[in-house]
Amino acid sequence: MSELTYPYEAPASQALFDRASVVTPGGVNSPVRAFRAVGGTPRFMVSGTGPYLTDADGREYVDLVCSWGPMILGHARPEVIAAVQEAVARGTSFGTPAEGEVALAEAMVERVAPLEQVRLVSSGTEATMSAIRLARGFTRRTKVIKFAGCYHGHVDSLLAAAGSGVATFALPDTPGVTGAQASDTIVLPYNDIDAVHAAFAAHPGEIACVITEASPGNMGVVPPLPGFNQGLKDACAAHGALFVSDEVMTGFRTSRAGWYGVEGVAPDLMTFGKVMGGGFPAAAFGGRADVMAHLAPAGPVYQAGTLSGNPVATAAGLAQLRLLDDAAYAKVDAVSERIQGLVTEALNKEGVAHTLQTASNMFSVFFTDRPVTNYEEAKAQESFRFTAFFHSLLENGVYLPPSSFESWFVSTAHDERAVQRIADALPAAARAAAEATA
Ligand SMILES: *Cc1c(COP(=O)(O)O)cnc(C)c1O
Repeated sequence: MSELTYPYEAPASQALFDRASVVTPGGVNSPVRAFRAVGGTPRFMVSGTGPYLTDADGREYVDLVCSWGPMILGHARPEVIAAVQEAVARGTSFGTPAEGEVALAEAMVERVAPLEQVRLVSSGTEATMSAIRLARGFTRRTKVIKFAGCYHGHVDSLLAAAGSGVATFALPDTPGVTGAQASDTIVLPYNDIDAVHAAFAAHPGEIACVITEASPGNMGVVPPLPGFNQGLKDACAAHGALFVSDEVMTGFRTSRAGWYGVEGVAPDLMTFGKVMGGGFPAAAFGGRADVMAHLAPAGPVYQAGTLSGNPVATAAGLAQLRLLDDAAYAKVDAVSERIQGLVTEALNKEGVAHTLQTASNMFSVFFTDRPVTNYEEAKAQESFRFTAFFHSLLENGVYLPPSSFESWFVSTAHDERAVQRIADALPAAARAAAEATA
């Protein structure tokens, strides 16, 4: 796609990006937004309605990012907006407890059986950071097992071999993370239970927890092999460690009870974000009540937040969860399957080797003919084909995640018209992928 004359195709976005680059490193507040993996001008969005986003140049896109997952009801869903407006009118932050945070916690606990208690925070990063601290405080151990390609936010100790933007930019490690922080992290290949057993054997009594994405979506969609999560739970139980399942992406998306609702493996601790915030900064960690009892002020492990349980964010999250009934999930699952079918059909027609992987309604395409079960295999795909595919779809009004290491997301708002737009754009994108060269 190098013959395209960036940045001229999106002049208003380019002008904003130029301004942003003066006052913000790389012009963005989260790295993947900068389009570096695919090139070209990041689109600055000005509004979103249902399944559509409109950029600063006035072009409309069918959105297959959905704010990286949160917008499972589409953009500006009237009931959610109304709940937010009502909350805003009562004041935006009190610094005291308020009923909304109780109601949101109750709604979460009601849906997810292993979740006996939750603590609300403001980002997924904060949730995993706090869960790790709690696991260490509870077990009085230091080491943490994580898996290559799993992303748990930008927590110092969890950035080693992380997915998402760390994968997109192929960063071997991150300056600013100390040796001590990194050396307490044991990074293992995903889906390799033997490696987990070996690590427990090599570090007896030292491992506080195993943290994993419930079903990884930050190296593309790489679901756990049958029995892998149960194997993690069993290994943790056998060695006195905690099993921490990161459901920031999958929580309240892959089913009413997230990935737990799909697989039924009960973790000791879980983390949430994205969908539960309804597009606002709200996240949470929680799980076994006896473990959560170690958190301040009930216990000695400190954790706090000025805006934790913010009344506007909790109102948005609660409104969204209340609308997410069985019919809503059936709708998201169905539209996801439709789009998966269209993508497969278009790529097959052009003879493009690919593997489409799913985790309930999350899915992504790897440009390889082999199934992808871990990060090494994810990295072996022909990412240059994704770049061509991405830009063709963007040109034709379909907004994909700007990286081949990310899940695609749909919403209840992706209706027939939106699906038809994707169907119309796919043949040219598949051709572009077929013709792409490294
Ligand atoms: C997005 C994500 C995070 C980080 O959440 P932020 O709100 O971006 O800090 C953590 N874990 C997983 C699995 C995620 O997908």
